[in-house]
Amino acid sequence: MRTYKIAAIPADGIGPEVIDAGSEVLSVLAQRAGDVRFDMTWFDWGSAYYKKNGVMMPEDGLEQLKPFDAIYFGAVGAPDVPDHITLWGLRLPICQGFDQYANVRPTKIIPGVTSPLRNVGVGDLDWVIVRENSEGEYSGHGGRAHRGMPEEVGTEVAIFTRVGVTRIMRYAFKLAQSRPRKFLTVVTKSNAQRFGMVMWDEIAAEVAQEFPDVTWDKMLVDAMTVRMVKNPQSLDTIVATNLHADILSDLAGALAGSLGVAPTANIDPERRFPSMFEPIHGSAFDITGKGIANPVATFWTASQMLDHLGEHDASARLMRAVEKVCADGILTPDVGGNATTKEVTEAVCDAIRGDNA
Ligand code: NAD
Ligand code: MN
Repeated sequence: MRTYKIAAIPADGIGPEVIDAGSEVLSVLAQRAGDVRFDMTWFDWGSAYYKKNGVMMPEDGLEQLKPFDAIYFGAVGAPDVPDHITLWGLRLPICQGFDQYANVRPTKIIPGVTSPLRNVGVGDLDWVIVRENSEGEYSGHGGRAHRGMPEEVGTEVAIFTRVGVTRIMRYAFKLAQSRPRKFLTVVTKSNAQRFGMVMWDEIAAEVAQEFPDVTWDKMLVDAMTVRMVKNPQSLDTIVATNLHADILSDLAGALAGSLGVAPTANIDPERRFPSMFEPIHGSAFDITGKGIANPVATFWTASQMLDHLGEHDASARLMRAVEKVCADGILTPDVGGNATTKEVTEAVCDAIRGDNA
């Protein structure tokens, strides 16, 4: 029996709804496999915890998470707590504290889910966006002076290091190499941003030498949004900075049908620490408690988690089940259906039980 210790942090809004769904699916996968066990430990950290304790997680939070094999995360964000507190109080400290420097965001059109793009269907849009997850505008450097005065100044400093850029570039080239098309697009804004971004371009060219079988090209981020919409077939693996990829991957999720189907993995490729798996979307308080949150992103990220743990059969079985259920039209309202979170979850569990491959 292979046992994996999973830390579940459902947190806010629809986070608990989708993580509950995901944990149900994981337990059915374990039953189906017979020789795998997921030992879930639940953490009540998040905005409710903050309102009681003044912090999003306890001071020794990272120490508590360290022994786990993976972290399964819902979303943060509450209407009555400032967003920078929820984000910097829980999600970013985990990403940064565990040096999860590769954020991997697969996007594809799932059968049954419709892209808002005309004439774009299954297979036309099949990307993996690699988001640099430790530097750039999210390094936490900057400041404010003369608060509230007419001469007030605010700075948001983007930090890029040779070590940081080289390691994400290697990760992206390697990932591109593992995919059938062996094609990578490097996104920057090196026409306007002359320092860190030009360094990105230079390091991309250097790392490319190590991967002679990977074809690659460069895009400026503004032109990239146009290419994603006009010519999605021309893209495969994409690497971009923390900020640029944050924006591009929300667009990618929308082009694939809904944020509700877009997953993400925060990976420590060196495996010194647990990696964290989550849907891209936030806490969606506009639909919280209605029972209609789309759990597909949270299932897909569980499949990324299974791959990371080396459970490739279970990962593939989960994705087959998700695709079957979507193709059968069992969809939540965000992707044009009228099923509830529970109905989609039950259907995926049934599909896993009935999968004989
Ligand atoms: P959001 O992703 O929560 O919601 C955007 C829109 O997409 C909403 O209309 C929502 O109903 C819909 N949506 C999102 N996920 C869905 C799902 N699974 N099923 C169906 N519909 C879904 O983004 P927002 O509204 O900008 O932010 C809400 C809160 O979430 C804010 O506090 C924000 O800071 C936070 N947030 C957190 C994360 C995170 O935890 N990683 C990411 C983004 C936003
Ligand atoms: Mn985002």
